[in-house]
Amino acid sequence: MTHSFDVLVIGSGVAGLSAARRAQQLGGSVLVLEKAWDLPGFGNSRQSGAIFVAADAPPTTPPDVLYRRMMERTDGTARPDVVRAWADNVARALRFQVAEGAVYGTRGASDESPYRLQPPQPQALGRPWRGAGPDVFLTRLVDRVRVASGTVIAGARARRLLVEGGRVVGVEASTADGVQRFRARSVVMADGGFQANRELMARHVTTDYLLDGSPLDTGDCLQMALEFGARTASMDVFYGHCRHRDALHNPRLSPHPAPAAAIEASLAVDAHGRRIADEAAGTTVMAVAIARSTTPGDCWLVLDDITWTGTAARGARRNVAELPLNPVLEQEGATVVVADSIEELAVRIPAPMEALAVTVTIYNRAVERRAGHELTPPRTGSPAPLARAPYRAIPLIAGVYFTMGGVLVNGRAQVLDERERPIPGLLAAGGTMAGLMGGPRAGYAGGWGEASTFGLLAGESAMAAARAEDAGD
Ligand SMILES: Cc1cc2nc3c(=O)[nH]c(=O)nc-3n(C[C@H](O)[C@H](O)[C@H](O)COP(=O)(O)OP(=O)(O)OC[C@H]3O[C@@H](n4cnc5c(N)ncnc54)[C@H](O)[C@@H]3O)c2cc1C
Repeated sequence: MTHSFDVLVIGSGVAGLSAARRAQQLGGSVLVLEKAWDLPGFGNSRQSGAIFVAADAPPTTPPDVLYRRMMERTDGTARPDVVRAWADNVARALRFQVAEGAVYGTRGASDESPYRLQPPQPQALGRPWRGAGPDVFLTRLVDRVRVASGTVIAGARARRLLVEGGRVVGVEASTADGVQRFRARSVVMADGGFQANRELMARHVTTDYLLDGSPLDTGDCLQMALEFGARTASMDVFYGHCRHRDALHNPRLSPHPAPAAAIEASLAVDAHGRRIADEAAGTTVMAVAIARSTTPGDCWLVLDDITWTGTAARGARRNVAELPLNPVLEQEGATVVVADSIEELAVRIPAPMEALAVTVTIYNRAVERRAGHELTPPRTGSPAPLARAPYRAIPLIAGVYFTMGGVLVNGRAQVLDERERPIPGLLAAGGTMAGLMGGPRAGYAGGWGEASTFGLLAGESAMAAARAEDAGD
């Protein structure tokens, strides 16, 4: 054991770098381990849209409003102290970032949020993250950590927590110089979710999904913490969007053209031709429903010609006018099954759907009578019946940005054990943690805001522990 620090941070996303910078501001010596060879690591933060929201509200919303909103979203299953800490500190996290050089703003009159990290990614196929806000800001944070005498090591993958007398005292990591042990008074786990770990995903979420977030977020810290008796929560939920299934082999098909608006205007079915969920519930709810359906690898969006020709106009409402399903899918050679009747469509889809024609007939009758609520699952919104040929079917898949569950923390970002007691010396922030976005039922708070806020709090908790130790408490 050759090195010793006040705070050791695992991961150089927005959570890890916020923790590192805050600890430095409070006088701490800091080490950041990043498994990627490139800095900052290509985690979710670097490719994020980085719209800083707090449960879809501005982060400057009064804390009590945010608190109630999040507790409602999660049916009260989020940890109250975690929600309270988030609600009380999310605006401070925004200010902290601005003081660290982040520039938030709107990219134009049509943008929905004035809290997007600037500059935004250009509107183009694929995910052009290089040079966009998070790339610029995180690079700046790495520089700042180093200028303030911090150490950031790339190509260093944390593998194991070092424990002495029931306390976490450091990390063993594989590095370019072989396996090394680093000692620290606190360890902050900030290695993102586990969406890229196929085994964990199969166990907790689904086998069939598009990895739409970082391939580096493999749940390493989660597994390390589990070995040490940490408690987990919300392991089966994720944040993501519906994607065209061909995005599995054509990365240009994600995030655009996004089928969200077309789903809201039409109906989505499983491989048997049965509706999956309320199409008006939003693309994230539908993505989770697809992942939980009996055929997560074989779900379809069925739409008529009115919706198909209207996708460009609907896209415009969502600020993606340049990249509508029609004609981009066909230009990209993506699968679009076309037929003159629903019956014909049902047999042209690779696995014939016995129930599709019946499903569409029942659906049409209900929406014509404005009785969508009588359907199972109910249909809300103001849908129109599928009325004009030709009909089309587009294969869908759940695109997973990040897993919302993970290691349970309290409001000070301390990792909790099975009896919900803090594990000494161990903190977690961002995608690694659970507690904010719900217990069994999850509600989205905003991944960027969660990571930013709990990164800040983790840095503060780590330094509070260091001060207490120095004072002999
Ligand atoms: C495409 C996309 C768009 C998004 N847009 C938004 C948005 O607009 N608004 C919003 O609120 N949220 C958004 N999110 C979510 C948000 O970006 C994330 O929740 C947040 O950035 C997570 O930050 P993090 O620091 O916890 O994790 P990450 O940014 O994923 O960082 C984890 C880091 O840990 C490293 N690492 C992993 N394992 C190890 C190990 N064993 N040792 C060392 N290092 C390790 C990884 O390489 C990575 O660099 C988006 C996510 C994606 C994927």
